Amino acid sequence: MFGGAFDPPHLGHVALARAAVQQLGLDQLRVFPTGQAWHKARELSPPEHRLAMARLAFADVPHTMVDGRELQRAGPTYTIDTLRELQREFPQAQLLLVIGADQAESLHSWRDSAEIARIATISIAARARPTTDAPPFDASSLPPGRRESVELPPMPVSSTEVRRLAGAGQDITALVPAPVARYIAQHHLYPTN
Ligand code: ATP
Repeated sequence: MFGGAFDPPHLGHVALARAAVQQLGLDQLRVFPTGQAWHKARELSPPEHRLAMARLAFADVPHTMVDGRELQRAGPTYTIDTLRELQREFPQAQLLLVIGADQAESLHSWRDSAEIARIATISIAARARPTTDAPPFDASSLPPGRRESVELPPMPVSSTEVRRLAGAGQDITALVPAPVARYIAQHHLYPTN
């Protein structure tokens, strides 16, 4: 399971997905665009746009599919609900939660985090730190459970930065897959500030 707002999906997300599939030997990686994420204050772009962009972004990543179920759920999105559903659907499967280090740091505050860590192996990818003096990821905050690391060259890209550049009318083609850049332009998704 790899969840995110994907508003928009960028090359860091795609690199993480590729690395996770390869390094963790996944039979399948499911990408879940979140509904209204409970921990993101900002109003997200409409679900249909984030779903379409995720499908474009991850189309060429082996063993990977986009699963839109969280977008159809009423109310805020909780990872534990999706993991419980996956457990019911795939009772034999070993489940993994693929997550960037920034999100892993706050995992202890997610709903039912101890159960998340019991159900799924937490598979953490390093994320480029905003400043060089920012402390490195501290795994001691994680609830007890199985862990894996995903090695990824630091990719200092974020959806925030893509939105900012797009809003300023600047070129985003180095930061997002080409079909996503075209989609953003066609649908005027992040209007000029
Ligand atoms: P925003 O800037 O809007 O907060 P974001 O770039 O952090 O968005 P999300 O959709 O919130 O993107 O991220 C989904 C998942 O991908 C999270 O687990 C996050 O840690 C991870 N992730 C995002 N960007 C990177 C990156 N550049 N390198 C590694 N992991 C990343």
